[in-house]
Amino acid sequence: MRPVFANSATLSIPEWLVLAKGHLRTIKLGVRFGVWVHPRHGPIVIDTGYGPEVTTGRRSLALRLYAGVLRPRLEIQPEDVLTDLGFRADDVKYIFVTHFHADHISGLRRFEKARFIAAGWDKINAQPMWQKLRHGLFTELLPDDFEDRLIAIEDLPVADLPFGRGHDLFGDASLLAIDLPGHATGHCGLVWPQHKLIYAADAQWLGEAIAQDRPPRGPARWVYDDEAAMTDSMALLRRASLAGYEIALCHDPVS
Ligand SMILES: [Zn+2]
Repeated sequence: MRPVFANSATLSIPEWLVLAKGHLRTIKLGVRFGVWVHPRHGPIVIDTGYGPEVTTGRRSLALRLYAGVLRPRLEIQPEDVLTDLGFRADDVKYIFVTHFHADHISGLRRFEKARFIAAGWDKINAQPMWQKLRHGLFTELLPDDFEDRLIAIEDLPVADLPFGRGHDLFGDASLLAIDLPGHATGHCGLVWPQHKLIYAADAQWLGEAIAQDRPPRGPARWVYDDEAAMTDSMALLRRASLAGYEIALCHDPVS
């Protein structure tokens, strides 16, 4: 089956903030997660989106301020999609984490049986707390035993793709992780070669920004981890698009 993507929440923001020469009008962005069923390993969750962990209950002041500024409107949670597919949260053995921003990791604590597949953790974890917060990483959202359950993408075997190279997650070429640096430390996407589909997470907020090379020029740049790397990642995605791959993003707009 193809992966299923759903919106954990929506965010309302002015278009110009996420697209060079964008309009002043407000657009509604999705905050997606995905579920894909591997024939042998069962349901794989791809990020978790925003959950109530960010918007309600006991939280640090920093997380409350963050939620107060962005004001996500919660919608569907990964467990809802799993239920529709006949699974429970405890059936999930693997969660792929594209990167560690709060809108991708909020629900990790709810998956007690899952291991986490992610890149860049050692580098991120070595940063002082203020730097983590500056990059939108709230470690309070991670399970206490996160490191014990982490599988580093860097340790997985490398395989060729028509537009570059990826890490073969399950050793059967069904799903590969690709480095898409720039947005955040360790930022990765996923490739399903059989579906010619790429989940490029936050390589950009809008597809037009990649296709038309219109990355935002204003305050949205402040969150970039590495702007030159982000430009290269966008070029790689344009090559993949020319090779016939469909590209899905976390924040594709919702009508
Ligand atoms: Zn992000």
